[in-house]
Amino acid sequence: MDLIRMKGVKKSYKNGVTAIHNLDLRIKKGQFVFIIGPTGCGKSTLIKMLYREEKPTAGHIIVGGLDVAKLRNSRVFKLRRKLGVVFQDFKLLPKSTVYENVAFALEVLGAPKDEIHAKVVKVLDLVGLKHKAKQYPNQLSGGEQQRVAIARAIVNGPKLLICDEPTGNLDEGTSMEIMKVLVEINKMGTTIIMVTHDTEIVSALKKRTILLDSGRIVKDFEEGTFSYEAIKNVR
Ligand code: ADP
Repeated sequence: MDLIRMKGVKKSYKNGVTAIHNLDLRIKKGQFVFIIGPTGCGKSTLIKMLYREEKPTAGHIIVGGLDVAKLRNSRVFKLRRKLGVVFQDFKLLPKSTVYENVAFALEVLGAPKDEIHAKVVKVLDLVGLKHKAKQYPNQLSGGEQQRVAIARAIVNGPKLLICDEPTGNLDEGTSMEIMKVLVEINKMGTTIIMVTHDTEIVSALKKRTILLDSGRIVKDFEEGTFSYEAIKNVR
């Protein structure tokens, strides 16, 4: 079953730049999909439309049964509950502990305290940070901060995890550790879409990989078929 369907999607910004042209894309539940392509090719625009940070100028976008383009602003929370987002710069609350950073995502939904506690402990355990629950973000390494951000993004059990360059600020070894966490989360059933510049990672993981150029999909590598050869003229 498709978790995401995009049909004839176009996005033009107010300044006249068209970032996405007539794009069709289907992503099945449970898939792990990389989005790659040169700077300015529309990667961020594409994923921002999935969580309604941006609205398409034309076309249809369905995420988890919700018509994202038509969704009223007052209903966007319904979409946001279905997904988690992880950013390159972590976006943690600096004055809150690891525990509080993750718990906050549930508090805003009005979950009871004991339920929050159980879920936060479980998800911190999953990302290997249970022992750091009382630390503050500036006491953690970059990789640990990103794990907190991942824990926060998945604590509510979303169907979809969107990652925008999650390893962009991390060294190679740490990046691979983060990828292991993401692969584990995917194995547990969460669909993952990850924008990245890191072709080493893409090459190592062999997941479905979509190559964008000038706002269009120029190649859609099925799982296991990605090769540097095929993209060398685009990068
Ligand atoms: P990528 O993530 O692949 O680097 P983007 O989606 O950020 O690409 O950008 C695609 C194109 O849209 C670029 O030409 C960029 O300058 C333009 N763009 C992105 N965001 C905006 C914006 N908010 N307003 C105007 N133009 C934008």
